[in-house]
Amino acid sequence: MRLRAARLAPVGEDSATNTEKARRTDFHSEEARTSMSNGKDLLSRAKELLPEIIGYRREFHAHPELGMEEFKTAARVAQVLRELGVEVRENVGGTGVVGLIRGRGPGKTIAIRADMDALPVTEQTGAFYASKIPGKMHACGHDGHTACLLGVAKVLKELAPEFDGQVKLLFQPAEEGPGGAEPMIKDGAMLDPKVDAVIGLHINNDLATGQIGVVRGVTSAAPDSFVLTIKGAGGHGAHPHKSVDAVAVAAQVVCALQTIASREVDPVNPIVVTVGTINGGFRGNVIAPSVTMAGTVRTLDPELRGTVEERMRRLAGGICAAMRAEMEMQYGYGYPSVVNDEDMVQLIESAGAKIIGDDKVVRIPVPSMGGEDFAYFAQEAPGCFFRLGGRNETKGFVFPGHHPEYDFDEDCLAYGAAVMAQAALDYLAGR
Ligand SMILES: [Zn+2]
Ligand SMILES: [Zn+2]
Repeated sequence: MRLRAARLAPVGEDSATNTEKARRTDFHSEEARTSMSNGKDLLSRAKELLPEIIGYRREFHAHPELGMEEFKTAARVAQVLRELGVEVRENVGGTGVVGLIRGRGPGKTIAIRADMDALPVTEQTGAFYASKIPGKMHACGHDGHTACLLGVAKVLKELAPEFDGQVKLLFQPAEEGPGGAEPMIKDGAMLDPKVDAVIGLHINNDLATGQIGVVRGVTSAAPDSFVLTIKGAGGHGAHPHKSVDAVAVAAQVVCALQTIASREVDPVNPIVVTVGTINGGFRGNVIAPSVTMAGTVRTLDPELRGTVEERMRRLAGGICAAMRAEMEMQYGYGYPSVVNDEDMVQLIESAGAKIIGDDKVVRIPVPSMGGEDFAYFAQEAPGCFFRLGGRNETKGFVFPGHHPEYDFDEDCLAYGAAVMAQAALDYLAGR
C-alpha cells in the first residue's frame, strides 16, 4: 500500500479547498509530503504490518543468540532487508548489519538502531514461541527491537520515492556486553553516508502499550564493574589468631563500600555501588584464606565516575591493610551514559504526539541507572534514545527485563515502528 495515494484522493469535489487542489496537482509539494507522513497513515500501515513484525519477533525469540554470536539473527535480518531492496552491509563490527535506504534525492542521513542479542537466562514464560535453546533467552526485548526495525525498514522503503536523504538501519550485536555499538562505529557504520542524527528505542514494561517515554539529557548510567579479591591466611576455625580471616575482612569491606554513596558523594548526585557476588571459604570450621567479590558501579556524572575507583581502592585497601590482609582489584570501565540531544528529544516527542497523541508521550523526569551502549552512537551524532511501553497487565506482561518470565505486549511494536518512521521522515523533511 502506498500511503500517499490514500491521502491524496479527497472526495467531495465541490467542497475541495485550495489546499486539497494543490495536493492533487503537485505530489511533491510540501503539502503533499506533509500529508504523506501523516501520523495516522503511518500508524495504520504499521498496524497492517504487525502480524509480519510479530512473526519476525517470535522467530528471533525462539532462537536467541548471545552477544557476538548473532549469526542466524544477522543473516535473517540481512535477508529480509535484501528482499525489501534495501542496500545491506554485513559483518559490521562483528555480527552487525547495516541497511541503507536512499530517498529520491540528496539530503541528510538519520540512523535508527536496534540491538539483536539475547541473555544467558533460561526462559520460564511458557509461551508457545518460547526459547528453544536452554540457557539463552531474549529477556530484554531485543528480539522486539530487531523486528520493529524491520517493520520500519519496510514502511520507509515504500516511502523512499517521496523523501530526500537517507535512512540508515543499524542492527547491532552484543548490547548486553561486551558491546557492539563501538565496534560497529570503528568499522564505519556511521560513515558513507555520514550519519547526521540517530534514534533508538528500548521496550519498557514500566510504561503501558501505546505509550512512549522520553528523558531529557542524560538518560542512562555508566555501568562500570569490579572484581575485588581479599587475600588473608587460612587456618583452623578454632584458632583465628593464627590466621587472617578473609571473610571477616570482606564483611568490613562490603559495609565500607556502602559509605561511598551514603557518606562521600553529594546525595543529589546519583551513584550505585552493588556487590553482586561474594565467594570464599571451604567449610564452617576453616578460616577462609581469600574472598572474591564482584559488583557494579553506576553513575550519571562523568566527573563523579572518574573518582569511584580511587575511593574503592582507598576504602577497601585501607581496611585490608588495617586487618593484615591484601587487596587486589580489577576495575572495568563500561559504556558511557546516553545523553539525549534536546532537538532530537523534541523530534521524538513530536513524532510520538502525531502517532499516539501527546498525552501518551510520557516525560520521564529521571534517568535510569541501567546502561546502554547506544551511548556510543549518540556520541557520534545528535541522538535520542526513548522507551516504548510494553506493559499489559490483562495479558500478564508485567515482568521487568532480564526476568525469566519477561515478555512484552507485541502490539507495542506497531507503535514503535510508526513513531520511528515518523521521526525519520520529520527529520529528513527538516521538521
Ligand atoms: Zn538488558
Ligand atoms: Zn536491553
